[in-house]
Amino acid sequence: MDCIFCKIVKGEIPSKKAYEDDSVLAFYDLEPQAPVHILIIPKDHISSCADITEENSAVISHIFEVAAKLGKELGLDNGYRIVNNCGEDGGQTVKHLHFHLMGGRQFTWPAG
Ligand code: AMP
Ligand code: ZN
Repeated sequence: MDCIFCKIVKGEIPSKKAYEDDSVLAFYDLEPQAPVHILIIPKDHISSCADITEENSAVISHIFEVAAKLGKELGLDNGYRIVNNCGEDGGQTVKHLHFHLMGGRQFTWPAG
């Protein structure tokens, strides 16, 4: 399968890592949309939020634990935004589930 985030997990494409353990990887987005912009992904390939099931959902809660830890470590004490783009209408461009952790500026709502 030709998935760029699977290649990042395997080290075949370089990334600037922010966190890593057995099941989760966090790395800095190539085109940051905020002073802090990190992508948090499951190491096992899940295509999108629409493919979360009872069998694979444990990693999702772990991803949010990692997000909270990174938020504290990076000093995002005034808050941050976590975004998941799901499918075509959601604006998903990379078909490996990822959560954007963005902080260091004020965000507007609703997102465009
Ligand atoms: P999405 O539009 O939600 O699918 O987000 C995909 C994100 O992946 C975008 O913010 C891209 O800038 C980012 N991205 C794509 N390729 C890479 C890469 N090799 N390393 C880091 N971030 C990437
Ligand atoms: Zn993948």
